[in-house]
Amino acid sequence: MRCVIVNGAKLKAQTCCARCGRVISDSYIREIGSRRIYCDFHCYSVALEISVLTRGYPLPALGAWTGRS
Ligand SMILES: [Zn+2]
Repeated sequence: MRCVIVNGAKLKAQTCCARCGRVISDSYIREIGSRRIYCDFHCYSVALEISVLTRGYPLPALGAWTGRS
């Protein structure tokens, strides 16, 4: 799963975060492929972890989200 961090963009319609339901402001995370929108990286990472768990794949190493090992 890959994502794009968007800063300073205006969505055409009021949109809510796919995980927490908070209204999206001018910065958000858009998942490439599904085009789901998340309010911040925390919501994206939690949604990604849930997706990995429900698909039965092993979780990546701690720190994989930040690029630190
Ligand atoms: Zn959220």
